[in-house]
Amino acid sequence: MKGTANGRDVRPLTLTAAQARKSPRAPIAAAGPEVVEGVVEVVRSHAALKRATDHCRECPIGEHATQSVCGEGPRKAGIMLVGEQPGDQEDLAGKPFVGPAGKLLDRALEQLGIPRAQVFVSNAVKHFKYELRGKRRIHKSPTQREIAACSHWLENEIALVQPALLVALGATAARALLGKAVPVMANRGQILEREDGRKVLITLHPSALLRVLPPDREAAWHDWLHDLSRINPH
Ligand code: SF4
Repeated sequence: MKGTANGRDVRPLTLTAAQARKSPRAPIAAAGPEVVEGVVEVVRSHAALKRATDHCRECPIGEHATQSVCGEGPRKAGIMLVGEQPGDQEDLAGKPFVGPAGKLLDRALEQLGIPRAQVFVSNAVKHFKYELRGKRRIHKSPTQREIAACSHWLENEIALVQPALLVALGATAARALLGKAVPVMANRGQILEREDGRKVLITLHPSALLRVLPPDREAAWHDWLHDLSRINPH
């Protein structure tokens, strides 16, 4: 089915059964045992995705953020790293992974010989969720419902980038990519498969490394590099 709605393309987007069940905006057109087709709006370029998510208010997060933050990297990339949501600096810059966690990710990629310019980096949730403490905006984790509401934008981005390997950085990304809760510590360094056949490497979010205290920091860093070393950029 193809058509237009509010000037934007509408066509069937295949959602996994779990994603379709959880998405509040995907009317189900036909159901099968494993895959459900939901008719949702699909944008066909990264620029259109940015415009669409900027205006999105499908969950309460968007209203309070400065702007949406979509992924960045080559239009087609073999590797797509997915984090949780933009942070304070990302929200202001409109770019993913530019804060302290992003700098740690850059360092890890450099150490592994993977140029950041060759990978696509994004987040499961496209707006910054926070609570105010005085003038400071403190990160607040998105709820399952908010992750589900944003999942069609992430799937749209994956459809644009067509990566061979997805890397889930943390529990929110793993849930968004696999459509179910995935215990990160039990699965870290493992490559799981989605219902659509795409491979997902599970590891920690770099912000988790930033919270490790000095006596354990070195070991945590090497364990994280070991997980990420399963990325093969070639
Ligand atoms: S976080 Fe996602 S679903 Fe929520 S308003 Fe932003 S783009 Fe829409």
